[in-house]
Amino acid sequence: MTSLDLHKRRGAAVARGVSSVIDSYVDHAGGGTLTDVDGNEWIDFASGIAVTSVGNAAPKVVAAVRAQVERFTHTCFMVTPYEQYVAVCEMLNALTPGDFDKRSMLVNSGAEAVENAVKIARHATGRTAVVVFDHAYHGRTNLTMALTAKNMPYKHRFGPFAGEVYRVPMSYPLRDGGLSGAEAAARALDIVSSQIGATNVAAILVEPIQGEGGFVVPAPGFLPALSAWASEAGAVFIADEIQTGFCRTGDWFASSHEGVVPDLMTLAKGIAGGLPLGAVTGRADIMDAVHPGGLGGTYGGNPLACAAALASVETMRELDLVTAARRIDLTMGGRLRDLAAADPRIAEVRGRGAMLAVEITQPGTLTPDPATTSAVSAECHRRGLLTLTCGTYGNVLRFLPPLVIDDRTLERGLDTLVAAFAAV
Ligand SMILES: *Cc1c(COP(=O)(O)O)cnc(C)c1O
Repeated sequence: MTSLDLHKRRGAAVARGVSSVIDSYVDHAGGGTLTDVDGNEWIDFASGIAVTSVGNAAPKVVAAVRAQVERFTHTCFMVTPYEQYVAVCEMLNALTPGDFDKRSMLVNSGAEAVENAVKIARHATGRTAVVVFDHAYHGRTNLTMALTAKNMPYKHRFGPFAGEVYRVPMSYPLRDGGLSGAEAAARALDIVSSQIGATNVAAILVEPIQGEGGFVVPAPGFLPALSAWASEAGAVFIADEIQTGFCRTGDWFASSHEGVVPDLMTLAKGIAGGLPLGAVTGRADIMDAVHPGGLGGTYGGNPLACAAALASVETMRELDLVTAARRIDLTMGGRLRDLAAADPRIAEVRGRGAMLAVEITQPGTLTPDPATTSAVSAECHRRGLLTLTCGTYGNVLRFLPPLVIDDRTLERGLDTLVAAFAAV
């Protein structure tokens, strides 16, 4: 079966609303490359959107899942519990920032983690308002569409959306006239105080580095100021670390770069080496406010996903993927800055660790250039490099290689990127 054949079958079978970045169908994949059914090799700068940090078939993950699938595939933790679920919660409680007592719950996806974090924060505080930011992305379910900023393609004609969601300006150094983190936080929190009222706020929900919204890194001081305000106001500070977590940014969690300790964290993507798992982890008093039976789901914390999560985190420790992400930052960041110095279409290189991006504008202006962005991305694809775009204006080219990618493959990918910019 060729990709062309599969694409024909897909057109007649798969809903059009579910689209793909490329039309090549994967046969097998490792840690840094994917091979399609036509035998072409792709260098992977996407990791299935920041998921396969340990690779697509990490040996420990494969072994753990194989062993688990032979024992049992499912019982439902709410019916007949099992150790693997408990072990993942113990691991998350120990691994996440904050030396206070913690609890966790497991779900199937990032959106479900965010949904539950909001449920828990509302229940624990007895308040309803949730504060979110410009350019935020939190998922595609009804509540998380309301929390997400961008209309196309995420929200267009999918309303009505959930209520009691309030959007305030983000710290976006390239585009907010160089406001300091403290000034950007004051601008956002003034709106919260005057238009919502501090005592009505259940939660402030923020990505420490925004993902789909454009890899926006807030100015230093922004996140600590939000966290301090929430603590003062009796609101829950929720860090959405679904894209930034598990070594991706050169630390276990991106909140730690500024010493921010969230009350709750939402986790998914890189957590389980590609198996579907999400989690909410945080302060025991907040997590345990909810009555027994108030949280859960049929598949949440599936035993295969739990086995994969335990093996993934073990792999991250053994291979020291925190350091690997920092090394990718040095290599890739250096090459991207050289590229930007020579190419006036690149307005900024930003990100942290193995979560880096370039924002592309009309030279000498801040006017977004989504056409050049998609042309460069398409040229990368023609040359066998898998890249993704993002950003509210579609003008950010982002790079998320697996953390286990070897130096030669990384350099080859970067050579291809440079050549693609030259060709467009
Ligand atoms: C991907 C993502 C989500 C949604 O996760 P899904 O598993 O796709 O539901 C939520 N928040 C952030 C920051 C994400 O990157």
